[in-house]
Amino acid sequence: MALSVREASEAILSGVAPLAVETVPLCAALGRVLAEDVHSTVMLPPWDNASMDGYAVRASDVTATGADSDAPVRLPVAGTIAAGATHVPALGRRSALRIMTGAPMPAGADSVVRVEDTDAGVETVEIRRRRDLGANVRPRGQDLAVGDVAVPARTKLRAAHLGVLASVGSATVGVHRVPRVAILTTGDELVAVEDFEQVRRGERIVSSNSYTLAAAVIEAGGEPLDLGIARDDPAALRGAIERARGADMLITSGGVSVGAFDFTKDVLQSMGGELRLWRVAMRPGAPIGFGMLDAMPWLGLPGNPVSSMVTFELFARPLIKLLRGEQRIFRQPVAVTTLEEVRIAAGLTHFQRAIVERTPEGFTARLAGAQGSGLLTSMVRANALLVVPPTREVVAAGETLSALWLDDADSATDMLAL
Ligand code: AMP
Ligand code: MG
Repeated sequence: MALSVREASEAILSGVAPLAVETVPLCAALGRVLAEDVHSTVMLPPWDNASMDGYAVRASDVTATGADSDAPVRLPVAGTIAAGATHVPALGRRSALRIMTGAPMPAGADSVVRVEDTDAGVETVEIRRRRDLGANVRPRGQDLAVGDVAVPARTKLRAAHLGVLASVGSATVGVHRVPRVAILTTGDELVAVEDFEQVRRGERIVSSNSYTLAAAVIEAGGEPLDLGIARDDPAALRGAIERARGADMLITSGGVSVGAFDFTKDVLQSMGGELRLWRVAMRPGAPIGFGMLDAMPWLGLPGNPVSSMVTFELFARPLIKLLRGEQRIFRQPVAVTTLEEVRIAAGLTHFQRAIVERTPEGFTARLAGAQGSGLLTSMVRANALLVVPPTREVVAAGETLSALWLDDADSATDMLAL
């Protein structure tokens, strides 16, 4: 019995742990996954400071003039505090200190009156509005206090995280290693694009999976290691798979079905590999193998170009993300309304190439043309996979199904939408 997609996913991912930790310079950490909590060892900001250019004052010195609340008040200016000042005078009674954004607050001051509300005086200052009394002071430690978690473990680092890590002194950070993913395509009919002459002569086809899989590995955050094309011959396969040893994961394409020349899983087992699953109740892509060769997970994807990409999407991508240390390893499903009738052969979960569009009424889906597993251009037209459960032989137009985005296209638009 073939496993369901969910069962297969669980079997593949269970027991797989994030890769070892390595230390990288902060500027090389973008997109990597932090291995341990980083605590702040400093206060951020390190001192009470001004959030405006203006005048540090004591609110009571401004209100104590006896005049009505709109009347201007004049105070002597006792000095200027720059953002980089290290010696800061205390604020004397009934006076003001000129202060710049980020500069340490002088002892005794509780307000920064913004310069726009004054005459900008240097010797004395006229304060014309009182809206800033008690305001515009950023207290020490407001952002982070000593001991706070600055960035938690398992965070995929974005620009803001790098800024926070820099602010707490992390010149280097511990992140999980990037998985090296060996890719081996198999098939006597295949050549690299450089050998296109043989394709033109009608003798061979291009191993397009070599390119889609390597690119998909990079998109998933892994580092592809191209082992080339192996002939459909056990000795050739064995030799090629030998070269994968030392990688963090092996993806093979083709040769896992029931054809007379489908040797991949036998060869793997003959090399001491343990076959953990074969066949998943899905279309495209039913013949899928998964196993372990020593400590290296092996995913045997089907050779059909669409099957290869769809099974990569469902099983290889989450595995790569798990090895990277990521927590959100799956695509977010989206509820879609079908714009046309969808028919499937019963008994298998179908992943139909679809075009999902956002409309004011929600998301709609239509099929991206014919669904043959060799029709790679359907993957070019599609931006999502429409998930049709095995029990839904006929889905009428207007019904709701779930879809998985194939990229982040939906989060981008060609018009400013504000
Ligand atoms: P297989 O899974 O080896 O039985 O191959 C199934 C189909 O996919 C056959 O039509 C193959 O020619 C095709 N195919 C296998 N490997 C590749 C590849 N690397 N690139 C493009 N097509 C392939
Ligand atoms: Mg083949």
